[in-house]
Amino acid sequence: MSLAVINPATEETIATLEPAGVEETDAAVGRAARAAPAWRAVTPRDRARLLRRLATLVEEHGEELARIESQNVGKPISGARGEVGMVADVFHFYAGAIDKHHGETIPVAGGIDMTFREPLGVVGLIVPWNFPLNIASWKIGPALAAGNTIVLKPAELTPLSALRLEQLALDAGIPEGVLNVVVGKGSIVGARLVAHPDVAKIGFTGSTEVGRGIMEGAAQTIKRVTLELGGKSANVIFADADLEKAAAAAPYAVFDNAGQDCCARSRILVERNAYDRFADLLTAATQNVKVGDPAEDDTEMGPLISAQHKETVASFVEGQPLFQGDTPDTKGFWYPCTLVEATNDDRVAREEVFGPVAALIPFEDEADAIRIANDTQYGLSGSIWTNNGARALRVARALDTGVLSINSNSSVRVSTPFGGFKQSGFGRELGMHALASYSEIKNVFYATEG
Ligand code: NAD
Repeated sequence: MSLAVINPATEETIATLEPAGVEETDAAVGRAARAAPAWRAVTPRDRARLLRRLATLVEEHGEELARIESQNVGKPISGARGEVGMVADVFHFYAGAIDKHHGETIPVAGGIDMTFREPLGVVGLIVPWNFPLNIASWKIGPALAAGNTIVLKPAELTPLSALRLEQLALDAGIPEGVLNVVVGKGSIVGARLVAHPDVAKIGFTGSTEVGRGIMEGAAQTIKRVTLELGGKSANVIFADADLEKAAAAAPYAVFDNAGQDCCARSRILVERNAYDRFADLLTAATQNVKVGDPAEDDTEMGPLISAQHKETVASFVEGQPLFQGDTPDTKGFWYPCTLVEATNDDRVAREEVFGPVAALIPFEDEADAIRIANDTQYGLSGSIWTNNGARALRVARALDTGVLSINSNSSVRVSTPFGGFKQSGFGRELGMHALASYSEIKNVFYATEG
């Protein structure tokens, strides 16, 4: 059965594709395996040049890629432009990282001991629909830099930008077979990559539930896995913070990408003595979020990805919300910005909504804030707002989460590590840290005694 790719803002079909099955997946793994020996033999300087050329092509095709992403995900064009800019930056970064990811010599008796960073071989990359090209680039960059070849499986709902990138990689001069994109169902193409004996590693971003299955499946062949999974991050606001600034920023930490963001700070924890004032400021700021046509430059929030996902998101809102905004009166899978008051035991505070719904939760003091923030199976990101520097660092050290910001809600930078604690997964993407999980350390001893 063919796969209809939908624009979630109009419900129109924008492409029809033939999804791959097991046979096509095996063929792609075969191409990647055949390309691997030559790719790992490319000199670091030339590999860097090729990656740099790909980065430049992404820049030159930036507007085209941003339009593809905006139409396929329903995300505002301004955000899509930023994401494509980051894709180019990621490839530039890893082009520069190739000759800085090196081994060492270790003093030992009787000879020279040295280490090498060897590629793994063929890596399978499985990515979600919320930031399709961006998240793919976080894996492709270090995987190629470390000398691996790739089979990339984009989400069925959003395959278009990955297919365009596959062409651009060829245009950049990256040899055929090095980057292969296979579009198809997770349960077929994804599962085959996980089971395939010639795939050395799975780099996965997606839900905790699917991640659990991938870890289980990978055990059969002792595959390496990196898992970037769900989140339920806390935005912790102390009474001594700049409340105006924190409240003005908070909506964008949840409603950006219509809340379909693993880093969404969807639990807003507010110190009780500032709670009422903060709730008023937050409501006013949320009213200003501009929801509408993703193609317009000033739109800040678009629709959800699908009708089915909209139903799931709606199921989290029971009773009268503190605030609920408006949505366009047109076709599309729209859901309004929604603020609810909750306790940390409510379903809206325990499960990942993955939609524009934020839960406000009061806390009593610093210890209570830490307790509530950590009372979740997840540990991906979060924020701390306070003007007390010592407290900011104390709380940052106490939170079981991989990526934190103080007096800010931004989580992701090209050169800094990104990844989760607890059931948000393990392994780190971005920065020099990502290279470690796309290479093996080989230790060689060379006897020098005569
Ligand atoms: P998902 O887990 O349903 O799917 C992710 C990918 O896995 C898709 O490509 C899908 O086709 C594939 N897949 C599904 N079943 C599979 C199987 N049995 N074997 C192999 N692959 C399979 O997630 P989604 O709905 O696309 O994305 C939303 C989820 O992703 C959320 O939970 C979100 O938090 C998470 N996410 C995490 C991060 C992060 O970096 N931590 C970033 C973005 C999204």
